[in-house]
Amino acid sequence: MIKLADTGVVLAGVRKSFAGLDVIHGIDLEIAEGSFVVFVGPSGCGKSTLLRMIAGLEEVTDGEIEIKGRNVTDLDPSERGIAMVFQSYALYPHMNVRENLAFGLKMAKTAAAEIEARVMAASAILKIEHLLDRKPGQLSGGQRQRVAIGRAIVRKPHVFLFDEPLSNLDAELRVSMRIEIARLHRELANTMIYVTHDQTEAMTLADKIVVLRDGRIEQSGTPREVYENPANVFVAGFIGSPR
Ligand code: ADP
Ligand code: MG
Repeated sequence: MIKLADTGVVLAGVRKSFAGLDVIHGIDLEIAEGSFVVFVGPSGCGKSTLLRMIAGLEEVTDGEIEIKGRNVTDLDPSERGIAMVFQSYALYPHMNVRENLAFGLKMAKTAAAEIEARVMAASAILKIEHLLDRKPGQLSGGQRQRVAIGRAIVRKPHVFLFDEPLSNLDAELRVSMRIEIARLHRELANTMIYVTHDQTEAMTLADKIVVLRDGRIEQSGTPREVYENPANVFVAGFIGSPR
């Protein structure tokens, strides 16, 4: 493909079909380096599939993906410079927090001193130093989600990918974790791509919102642009714009 940008993330004509059924219909999107982009849309519109293709967890049916100016379309997830945080945390129950944070780095044969340094730095950022010897079963939902985010931070990715990371938390915790994630973005200054079906999360976190419906982009822009100038009735209804 034509090299579109030296940095950030670029999707060019990205399509996905499962068993011949198209679920992503040809997405073109440029995500600026260091920005916080939120994919928002109703359940089943293709948010996770799109994110998983960027992560390399799902092959594209057609099209190409660039990260930091490099075509990553055929690379394994571990080679893409990304780290993903899931809604389900996906922590290892038999390992303590320290071991959970270190595991991916150990697998990648990172030196022990470097692992220790990165685990301590991530723990400090997330304020979980006092939890390092606990097992996931001894943590609250919010603490588990911090550990899951910590596991992404220690990998020092170019791009963080979040798939509905807060949807298992109660309303109050969702608000405080949302503020934490915004702070994380300010401190780390990485590109973050965040999937949610929650309009409030999208409006408060995003530099740029991408509204999806049935595998297509209905509109993208700043939260304010989308709110004040919805492209159509669907966007207006979904974002809750005044009529
Ligand atoms: P969202 O994350 O927005 O809720 P998904 O990306 O999970 O949506 O799903 C988009 C569409 O693709 C849905 O119709 C879903 O049923 C379908 N889909 C997702 N994963 C698979 C799969 N592995 N096999 C078949 N269909 C799938
Ligand atoms: Mg999903």
